[in-house]
Amino acid sequence: IASKLPNVGTTIFTTMSQLAAQTGAINLSQGFPDFDGPQALREAVGRHVMAGHNQYAPMTGLPALREQVAAKIARSYGRQVDMDAEVTIAPGATEAIFCAVQALVRPGDEVIVLDPCYDSYEPSVELAGGRCVHVPLALPDFSIDWQRLADAIGPRTRLIILNSPHNPSGALISHAELDQLAALIRDREIFLISDEVYEHLVFDGVRHASVLAHEELYERAFVVSSFGKTYHVTGWKTGYVVAPPALSAELRKVHQFVTFCGVTPLQWALADYMIAHPAHVDELPAFYQAKRDLFCDLLGGSRFAFRRTPGTYFQLADYSAIRDDLNDVEMSLWLTREHGVATIPVSVFYREPPKDLRLVRFCFAKREETLRQAAEKLCRV
Ligand code: PMP
Ligand code: GLN
Repeated sequence: IASKLPNVGTTIFTTMSQLAAQTGAINLSQGFPDFDGPQALREAVGRHVMAGHNQYAPMTGLPALREQVAAKIARSYGRQVDMDAEVTIAPGATEAIFCAVQALVRPGDEVIVLDPCYDSYEPSVELAGGRCVHVPLALPDFSIDWQRLADAIGPRTRLIILNSPHNPSGALISHAELDQLAALIRDREIFLISDEVYEHLVFDGVRHASVLAHEELYERAFVVSSFGKTYHVTGWKTGYVVAPPALSAELRKVHQFVTFCGVTPLQWALADYMIAHPAHVDELPAFYQAKRDLFCDLLGGSRFAFRRTPGTYFQLADYSAIRDDLNDVEMSLWLTREHGVATIPVSVFYREPPKDLRLVRFCFAKREETLRQAAEKLCRV
């Protein structure tokens, strides 16, 4: 049939995780922890299932969970959001982003994405009849190239998708850069999706600059997060969107016909856990920074070149001193098959990857033992 998404195949995450399973390689490719979420959180699901919380949740999400999300936003970013008008629980950040795009983008609209970018953005835009305009981030630190961004904005620009902390690079957008963005779009009707699923994975004492803490940008933004990342339960596919009332209303029109609501007992369990453990999010930076530092210290003994990632649970590494003859897809396959460590090539997040890109992405959301075993193999490459 004539595909609506002719350029879409199997995602790199499926491909590499399958290859890791087939070859028995240590899987540092697809981003997910190899340890479990908190025991109290998992036990709460069982309790709520047995207590009969098994029918549809409200379309906008369980009030108890929306209340906790609003409380966390007040604590972390100093914004008071209206949990009824501005917070929507979604079955995964991916669904939230999809719904926000469908709510905003009309045929012919342009959506600016900053490459390398997460793979779900472009298909979501294309299904809405829109077109992605790809603006590359500036190497080597994956910062915003303001001139190129300004040049990409035109009369058809409807939406800009931001992602900080950034997958795959870990780069962070600062509050000053949000100011710069605000100035750039001030007099235009351009909206934002701010993908902040790694909001609590920011290291070295830096504070995440959320769009929720930016008065002017929040007025035109959908801010998206994921409980999967924050509570080590990526398979729960539960996240949320925060947006001003008028935008939330449009998002909900779509969300109610895409999935209607998220999984009920998971929402109850997350609400219970957030009430009992409000400090969880404040402890996450140190938890993941220790993993980053362990992995990087060990990788220091290898021929990979890298700068410690400022955020997310991904570490990029340049392999040009090892196999400059291989592109990054070939390198990822070679590392997986010949050296037993699965990774993600960075070029797949680009529309037009830089020609000399020699970067692979390692996920360090792993037990110490896994990181040690993987690093030992990588030091032998
Ligand atoms: N955005 C980014 C940048 C991600 O890395 C992920 C993780 N897969 C998502 C969105 C999707 O999150 P979820 O699993 O909650 O749909
Ligand atoms: N966000 C995860 C990553 O970047 C993958 C999610 C997925 O498999 N779709 O690795």
